[in-house]
Formats: sequence, structure tokens, C-alpha cells
Amino acid sequence: MTGLQETTLRVAIVGAGPAGIFAADLLVKAERKFAVSIDLFEQLPAPYGLVRYGVAPDHPRIKGIVNALRDVLDGGNIRFFGNVRFGTDITLDDLKRHYNAVIFTTGAIRDAELDIPGTDLPGSFGASEFVSWYDGHPDVPRDWPLTHRAAAVIGNGNVALDVSRMLAKHAEDLLDTEVPANVYDRLAVSPITDVHIFGRRGPLQVRFTPLELRELGELRDVDIILDDADFGVDESDERSIATSKQLLVINRILTGWREREVGKASRRVHVHFYSKPVEILGTDHVTAIRIERTVPDGEGSVVGTGEFRDIPVDAVYRAIGYFGSPLEGVPFDKFRGVIPNSAGRAIDDDDEQVHGVYTSGWIKRGPVGLIGTTKSDALETVHSLLRDQAEWWTPTEPAPDAVVEMLHDRGIRYTTIEGWRRLDAHERALGEAQQRERIKVVPRDEMVDIATTEQP
Ligand code: NAP
Repeated sequence: MTGLQETTLRVAIVGAGPAGIFAADLLVKAERKFAVSIDLFEQLPAPYGLVRYGVAPDHPRIKGIVNALRDVLDGGNIRFFGNVRFGTDITLDDLKRHYNAVIFTTGAIRDAELDIPGTDLPGSFGASEFVSWYDGHPDVPRDWPLTHRAAAVIGNGNVALDVSRMLAKHAEDLLDTEVPANVYDRLAVSPITDVHIFGRRGPLQVRFTPLELRELGELRDVDIILDDADFGVDESDERSIATSKQLLVINRILTGWREREVGKASRRVHVHFYSKPVEILGTDHVTAIRIERTVPDGEGSVVGTGEFRDIPVDAVYRAIGYFGSPLEGVPFDKFRGVIPNSAGRAIDDDDEQVHGVYTSGWIKRGPVGLIGTTKSDALETVHSLLRDQAEWWTPTEPAPDAVVEMLHDRGIRYTTIEGWRRLDAHERALGEAQQRERIKVVPRDEMVDIATTEQP
């Protein structure tokens, strides 16, 4: 049985971040014997997912990926429906009625859970909430309780670096970025003086990438403080440096920092290795973090030594990785936070393929890898989908207009590519007035109003 109508493959993609847009692009460009029509659904009124709402505002190089993503959307083969939530505004049954297949590319935007006492205390934050706040995500509160003088950041990945940098950086140094106005105003009065980054393993087992790590040491009026006792602990370090260019560079950066003169800056970032957080302390608010000293176990991991110390902090940011969210009617692996799949084909509890359902990006493979990795991932999924022609759904309402009618009938205020272009132009105009590239519109309703209002 084939679901192909009039030789047009109708595909819905849910999630308009890099994973969804790359998948759409690859589908359009793939060698195939039929036409393809793609609708991209996104719960936010604007496209680009983590590039808009995850990449720090002072990372214009990475934000530049938007140019490639925009070219795909501007290609004319893909329709965009923003401000449409899967699970409430549209369901899997709706998609089955309108499409031959769906690719879920919803990413991983929640924080992985840190199972230690005190995690729920006021003043203990998931990094993703803070990232969403400083990137002007419409669904988080406008204000952030940035009243802390000392903060702990748990984790040795790039998100921990982003969070630490945004906390330690002087707000004036963000002025030439697209930082939202409410975020700048709050950062400008932040009383913070000390940020403590904790890695449970050693300096050569970090997940930082060199470029991002180096940047931390370039912050104006910020000292980087390291502890000599954290270095030369693991016998395998020399081997790591000899076999990995990345670790060689990381080692060079850390060595350079250790040799620096410190003491004059008004803010400090303390980088602690072999420091495993075991408890967040406080009664009605965070007052300290309890750390257990670890040592290498000879197999790349660490073991606790039973030696504890408490470091006074008034906030804790948990940057220990992201986690995917389940989608209504779609298989979900609750331990890994992904859609279980085989080469992008969703599979159920019995390892059987769920026909018509595909996945790509972080919700497929977990929250690892840089944006570029997402492209090869999408290629695999698109190949699987195209090869499965006999297994696709047979939609009863395949006409492209039928989806639009459905959204209208349900009173959903969706945004389109043209609407997004209007919002984009509006944000750029706001920025231009202040010699900045863009000032983001943050409230969802305002975003939708601007995107759906025709220019006079
Ligand atoms: P990540 O790279 O997986 O790092 C997570 C960190 O948390 C690791 O150091 C891990 O330590 C630590 N961790 C995990 N569980 C822990 C626990 N229970 N206690 C203490 N520490 C714990 O994750 P991420 O930083 O969220 O980044 C996600 C992806 O986005 C990465 O691929 C990253 O490179 C990318 N990203 C890139 C940029 C950029 O600017 N280029 C910015 C942000 C994110 P172990 O290693 O010991 O498990």
C-alpha cells in the first residue's frame, strides 16, 4: 500500500530548529521520483529553535547559522506554521489525516535532573531556565532573581561555560549583542562577584570545546582562578594530551590561566575539578554547596574520597545536560529522554517500527554534539523516510489548504514565513535605532501580533 497521492509526498516536520530545517532542506534536495510538500510546525511564533533561544547573545558566530537556515525557509518549498503546539493545537491523528509521514525534531530543552538533596531550594536553577531568560524566550518570566553575589555552576560542558560567562561578564560588554532590553537591565545591576564552576572529573575530562573555553578567559575585569592541586592528578593525562588535539589546546588554555597574575579584577570565576556536588545547602534559600573531592578511578571516571567541603554561594545553576520531553502518542524513552528509533524510524516498546513516524536531532540522539552534527543526523532520517514509501500513511485530506482550514477552524493564531519576516524586520529596526543588530520582541502575544499584522 502506498500513501502517495498524485506523486506528492506530504511531510509534516514538528520543530523548526536546526534539526527540523536541515531535515526539510535534505528532503527538498533528495533525489526522488515524486514531488515533496513540507509543512514545518513550531510551538514558538519564530523559527530557529536553540539558535534563537539557546545560543548565548554574545555568540554571533553561532547565531550566524541562522543565515543558512533562513536560506532554506526562503527557498519557497516549505510552509512554516509557528505558534502551533503539537499535542494541543494539532495531534498525531490530525497529522495522519493530512500527511504521509511526520518527522519530530523537537530537541531537548528541559534540564537533566540532578538527584542530590537541596535541588528544589529557592536559588537552585536549571541552566536551561536561565538560558531561556537571557535569550528572551517568551514562555519564561521576564525577570530573573539576579541578587546573588556568589553562584555555583555545576557541569563542565559548554552550557556551563555560557551560564558562567553570562553571570560574570559586565553587562556593558553585551551591549553590542542582541541581548533583550529586560535582560541587559537586570544584568547591569547584578551584584555578583564570584562564580564557581564544578566538574566532577578532571581538567582533561571536560566537555568544553577549546574556542568556548578560551572565551571565558577573555572577559574584561574577570580573574580565572584555578587550584594547582587539580592538575597532574591523573596519570593518563599525558597520554590524553598526546592523542587529542582538542585536549592539547584545552590543556594549553588552562596552563596559561594558571600562570596569570590575579587579584585586581572585580569579578572572579573559580574553576574546580575533581569536585562532585553532593548537596545544596540552605533552609529557605541556597546558602552553600557541599562538594566531595574525587580521584580518578583509572578507567576515565572518578570515585569519591569522603572528603567534603562547603562553599558559600547564594545560587546554584545546574548545567549537567539537557533532556527531551515526551510527545503525545509518540514512543518515548524516559531514561534517555529521546524517541526510541532505528536510523530515525520511531520504534515502539516491542522494537517494532511505528509507521509514518520519524525523528531527527536531539530528540532522536540525545542532547550531544554541535549544530553541524544535526545535518548528518537528518540525512540518515530522510534516507529512511524516502526508502519506506510502502509504509507511509495514507492521508484522507492531503490537500495543503485542508491544514490551513483546520488551524483556522480551531482559532489558532499561527505565524507564517511572511509573518516571521515581518517580525524579523521589526526586531532589526528596533536594534538599528540603538546601533545594535536586533532587539528581540519577548512576549508571545506581541510576537504574534507583529507577525500577523499586515503592513499598511
Ligand atoms: P554536556 O556537554 O553533556 O556537559 C554536561 C556536563 O555535566 C559534563 O561535564 C558532565 O560531567 C556534567 N554532569 C552530568 N551529570 C552530572 C552530575 N550528576 N553531577 C555533576 N556533573 C554532571 O552538556 P551541555 O553543556 O548541556 O551541552 C549540550 C551540547 O550543546 C553539547 O554538545 C555542547 O557542546 C553544545 N553546546 C555548544 C555551545 C557552543 O557555544 N558551542 C553552547 C552550549 C551548548 P561528565 O562528563 O563527568 O558526565
